[in-house]
Amino acid sequence: MAIRKCPACLTTAPMGAVVAFTNNFVCAGCGQHLAVSEASRVLAAALGIVAGYIAMSTAPPAYSMLGWAVPVLFALLAYGCVSALILMATADLRLIPAPTPTPVAEASATHHGPH
Ligand SMILES: [Zn+2]
Repeated sequence: MAIRKCPACLTTAPMGAVVAFTNNFVCAGCGQHLAVSEASRVLAAALGIVAGYIAMSTAPPAYSMLGWAVPVLFALLAYGCVSALILMATADLRLIPAPTPTPVAEASATHHGPH
């Protein structure tokens, strides 16, 4: 499949929607619900972990009391940035059924009572 293309109408989804709403977002072209396929997610997460490992091993030594946290911080930032960028570049979309609306108003109305 093409990168960030809706399988139904071939509209290219925006990068931000693909990365921010990976599980469920609405296609701008046809209005159907889309999700990022598992293969794209696994690829992005795996490359993010690799980038985090590289960043952790190449972090400069920090001579302070919280110096141990610097490699962890570098690894976390590298994982977050790289996995999101990989997902932006390689996301393969699939159609999902529209989620059923949750009865939030009904549930909150029944729980009114003395506290
Ligand atoms: Zn579409």
